Amino acid sequence: MISAGRGVGCGVVRVLLLGSGAREHALAEGLAADPAVRSLIAAPGNPGIAEVAALHPGVEITDPAAVAALAVEIGADLVVVGPEAPLVAGVADAVRGKGIPCFGPSAAAARIEGSKSFAKEVMAAAGVPTARARVCTDSATAATALDEFGPPYVVKADGLAAGKGVVVTPDRDAALAHAATCGRVVIEEYLAGPEVSLFVLCDGTAAVPLLPAQDFKRVGDGDTGPNTGGMGAYAPLPWAPPDLTEQVMASVVHPTLAELARRGCAYTGVLYVGLALTARGPAVIEFNCRFGDPEAEVEMALLETPLATLLHAAATGRLGSHPPLRWRPGAAVTVVVASAGYPASPHTGDVITGADRPGVLHAGTARRDGALVSAGGRVLACTATGADLAAARAAAYELVDGVSLAGSHHRTDIALAAVRGEVRVPA
Ligand code: AMP
Repeated sequence: MISAGRGVGCGVVRVLLLGSGAREHALAEGLAADPAVRSLIAAPGNPGIAEVAALHPGVEITDPAAVAALAVEIGADLVVVGPEAPLVAGVADAVRGKGIPCFGPSAAAARIEGSKSFAKEVMAAAGVPTARARVCTDSATAATALDEFGPPYVVKADGLAAGKGVVVTPDRDAALAHAATCGRVVIEEYLAGPEVSLFVLCDGTAAVPLLPAQDFKRVGDGDTGPNTGGMGAYAPLPWAPPDLTEQVMASVVHPTLAELARRGCAYTGVLYVGLALTARGPAVIEFNCRFGDPEAEVEMALLETPLATLLHAAATGRLGSHPPLRWRPGAAVTVVVASAGYPASPHTGDVITGADRPGVLHAGTARRDGALVSAGGRVLACTATGADLAAARAAAYELVDGVSLAGSHHRTDIALAAVRGEVRVPA
């Protein structure tokens, strides 16, 4: 918990942060480091977040009325919503309904993540480059769509799936089988090219991009095995075209925000733009309505601008007058340490040591009889900065090497291709 008596700047004295993963641990550290913040409360939080915030574990964070009541009770000046589920449930609407600024989109705007078909509809109306797609509700139309686009097949569950509802496979039978388990699915054209995550802070009118980052979705080295919530990330991207952010703001972000506003759901919060850099230019793979995890960890490690003041400006429509963002020089790398069996069947309850060093962010951890134990699939996000990507990578893996957790696994190739200069954007 932050001690009282620090300077009070922009009126963002008391902050409520929702969530319990490493993304929220990174956000909590950023919020706590802002000199304007005197009190940080996290719900439910985790043992890492408890080092910098007072925890309020009892509240159901997907219950809009309960969150709004807590925000009123603690006199919050700002509510920051980490994960997507509360946003899709309408938590930001309920908080704003009490007159409290909230960093996060309304339920209507959060459909940009909550419904893949809604996102496709918005993109089509806004003329945003993305994969051609079909929405299918039965196996006959699914089969027709698979044959229309050909392999590799991309099949996405329509609703929220914590990053795990997508199957990309050369196997037509596996694609059909996934479609059958999902009910309503989006089947789309495969986009070939390196992936980029661009986070854009939005205040309903203005939009401010963070640094392009890359994450690693597959569980195994060399992008093998099933998709996960994310096994690592790095920023900045030494191989990306220098005008990438400008291009994406012009071709994707501004048209999408304008289309959402036209539909009566102007966007406040962070818009996560997941892109593939294809031979035809950047194309949207997905939108999310919150920071990505683990990309948020590298962004927060590099961001020097006071975070609470920045997110408060976004939540109160004042991003346009906020000073330009300041970034630390160098690079940041995050490597996720996952529990045995993740992602299929994570083993929990194992004792963790080595998680108390700066940069070791808690994702799925808990305290049991005083000991730190694993409590989820992704357990820790080891995050380090360095003068360049190679140095940041070495420092992140040093943190990983210092962690002990029975049966845990991690990728050994996070940011490796970028360090070796092997990432190529198709011409
Ligand atoms: P999503 O949940 O939509 O981000 O999809 C998860 C992952 O599946 C992405 O990060 C990509 O690696 C992959 N993916 C999704 N859609 C496509 C696509 N149209 N083409 C190629 N890869 C895709």
